[in-house]
Amino acid sequence: DHTRDPVVIVGTGLAGYHLAKELRKLDQRTPLVIISADNGDSYHKPQLSMAFHKVRTPEQLVSNSAREMALSLRAQILTFTQVTAIDSASRCLTLKAGLQSQRLHYDKLVLALGAEPVEVAVGGDAAGCAFRINDLQDFQRFYTAAAGTKSVLVIGGGLIGCEYANDLIQSGFQVHVIDPQTHALGSLLPDNASRLVEKSLSEAGVQFHLGTTVISLDYCSGGIQAVLDNGTQLQVDRVISAIGVRPRITLAQTNGIPVNRGIVTDRYLATGSEHIYALGDCAEVDGHNLCYVAPLLAGARALALTLTGTPTQVTYDNMPVSIKTTLCPVTVSAPPPGTEGQWQYDRDDDKGVAARFTDGDRQLLGFALVGDACSQSAELSEQAPPIMQ
Ligand code: FAD
Repeated sequence: DHTRDPVVIVGTGLAGYHLAKELRKLDQRTPLVIISADNGDSYHKPQLSMAFHKVRTPEQLVSNSAREMALSLRAQILTFTQVTAIDSASRCLTLKAGLQSQRLHYDKLVLALGAEPVEVAVGGDAAGCAFRINDLQDFQRFYTAAAGTKSVLVIGGGLIGCEYANDLIQSGFQVHVIDPQTHALGSLLPDNASRLVEKSLSEAGVQFHLGTTVISLDYCSGGIQAVLDNGTQLQVDRVISAIGVRPRITLAQTNGIPVNRGIVTDRYLATGSEHIYALGDCAEVDGHNLCYVAPLLAGARALALTLTGTPTQVTYDNMPVSIKTTLCPVTVSAPPPGTEGQWQYDRDDDKGVAARFTDGDRQLLGFALVGDACSQSAELSEQAPPIMQ
């Protein structure tokens, strides 16, 4: 009989903690265990790429310690503890904390494992020096390493790379951004929208190297030398790599839980393995692996209902993403990859760009707003189709 075993959530990121909060709104009694490989501090991950300019230290980004979370959620929180195996037949986890190993039975299991940054493939003896900042510990390491330095090379001109560039340039660093696409934010925005972001960041001092890649990173006297495939050589103090994230699927995969890009779930967030659910960046919900906050909030609300006896499917409205390039803000609702259609500009000037992506029937499928035009977001988002009804 597993009914007296706890609900176990693996992960103390926004997904794990939001689900725990939603659960406790509905049910105060079910035993709840939350497990994290990290220290379990609660923080708002999107703030990582705004922290330098706002002069927040890593400590100031913590909203609650794991202890405080445990008290307010009436949960047991196991920190610095890895889940290394899942036996779905006996509903039992293997946990490792340091050299200690332990087993834990669950009634229901939720995997909220997040995603990890893709490692950049470059040559040179400093290839391993690039910081990949995807959690508070990563940020802490970079924050310490960047103290007293002057210049940073950001590999990747996508959402996260541009946000770090925006933050660091306003914090006194010299910043270079490198991206193989010919425009920053190239996979999200039409060209003229990208151009306004590039212009604003360039005016603030960011140096873009677009349409090129880094071949090698080598230590040199006084820093790191980067060689680009267009022949440019740059000398910098620190390197950040922000070339994308990949859902953490290995734990599921090696324990017989079906995966694709993410851990595969239906709209109830149920995986292919009974009593096991997935939520947040690690989950691929009915074909959608969306590594953003809005989808995990919707998922947490639905899953809390499901876990407390009211099976509820998650739906995704149109969920525009705000890119926190504060020098030139962006709001984008990108059409699904591979969608047929074209971008049209309603506005395209020095202060703002508003573009709509429409199909042959002039149906609005996505939009991109830059600068002053961001104010139209609510209106367009209502007209654009939901992601998953
Ligand atoms: P994570 O926060 O990665 O949490 C995963 C947890 O699982 C961690 O606690 C980890 O320790 C634990 N874990 C993993 N494996 C194991 C294991 N085997 N055993 C035990 N524990 C394990 N989204 C937006 O919508 N808007 C934004 O403006 C925005 N800005 C961002 C800026 C940056 C710099 C970054 C990096 C992301 C940003 N995002 C933004 C994305 C958003 O932050 C993420 O989608 C969200 O935080 C993911 O939460 P999560 O709980 O799924 O994953």
